[in-house]
Amino acid sequence: MPLHPLIGHIAARNRLSQAIRSGKLPQVLLLTGPVGVGKQRLALWLAQLARCEKPGGEPCGECRSCRLVLTLSHPDVHWYVPIPRPKASDVDKLVEEAAQSIAHVMDERRSEPLYQPADGMATHSLASVRLLQRRAALTAVEGGRRVFILAEADRLIAQESSQEAANALLKLLEEPPAESLFILTTVEPRRLLPTVRSRAVRIRLGRLSDSEVSTFLKTHMRPPVSSRDLDQRVALAEGSIGSAFGSGEEMGKAQTAATQWIEAVLAGPGPAYEKALKQTTWAARGEFTAMLDALADTLGDAARETLGQNVRRSVPKALLRYREPAPLLQAMERVADAREAAWGNVNPQVLLAVLGEELAEVL
Ligand SMILES: [Zn+2]
Repeated sequence: MPLHPLIGHIAARNRLSQAIRSGKLPQVLLLTGPVGVGKQRLALWLAQLARCEKPGGEPCGECRSCRLVLTLSHPDVHWYVPIPRPKASDVDKLVEEAAQSIAHVMDERRSEPLYQPADGMATHSLASVRLLQRRAALTAVEGGRRVFILAEADRLIAQESSQEAANALLKLLEEPPAESLFILTTVEPRRLLPTVRSRAVRIRLGRLSDSEVSTFLKTHMRPPVSSRDLDQRVALAEGSIGSAFGSGEEMGKAQTAATQWIEAVLAGPGPAYEKALKQTTWAARGEFTAMLDALADTLGDAARETLGQNVRRSVPKALLRYREPAPLLQAMERVADAREAAWGNVNPQVLLAVLGEELAEVL
């Protein structure tokens, strides 16, 4: 299946296509913006435009090059996604393993273009960066500009080899090979290494409008949703197509788990607290990180509520006793730290136990 069409971000598109037309497109770009608004999709759109045989303000969508990009099979467009850490024993095998993992994700995205965020444990390890280096050193298969997309670039935090991976990437970005374009994407630019961040020209993408999200869901949701479910999803999605698609059962599950957990922590030491800390349902990292995200959202809503601002979700009772946002914001920071640690090789139970104690202190 080809990629779904890019929605919204008209100002960014105009800016980028003008830059291409005037020959002033920077070689290293950083696309930032909330989760699920289409950062990677815009990167692919730009790859398409940079390679299009009949480019206008938009890629034509019909030439051979456009079709190859849209089916994720262009030999000069490389999309690097976070993957589980390769385990092979020597460098060549590690790089080979990384290439296979990425190819596997591409296969999945070809069959289902509406993908979920990468698993919380997935990273860009040194093997992925080496692969990127090797490919960048080659000349274009079909001539012209080569495009390298580094999705969720903040996940370049692979433990012991992090410095080496970062240095290798930095070297590439400092002196990009001729006729190459690097597009990094991230929700959280502060989590990028400052040296990497400073090499890139940043383009901020905002949230989509409710009507853009709604139109997209109506066209692409399979099976189609009822209009009531549609309205609910659009309201919960807050301008993110990714969230709108995830806002069914899974988001509800993460939200429920987060609510139960924070209520148990706030109830203080006792059976519920013990049980919450010993939760054993976090075998899947994706579920664990989704729960942490829901927890951060819940605390954020509770903080907004203290300021009399509108919130989209109902705030758990236990969090309604605060008069000021400060403790809630502190708690959010602790959750963000835990979310970051969850990308490493940390045991979720241990992480949650530590987080529980930290939250009990600040709340
Ligand atoms: Zn084209």
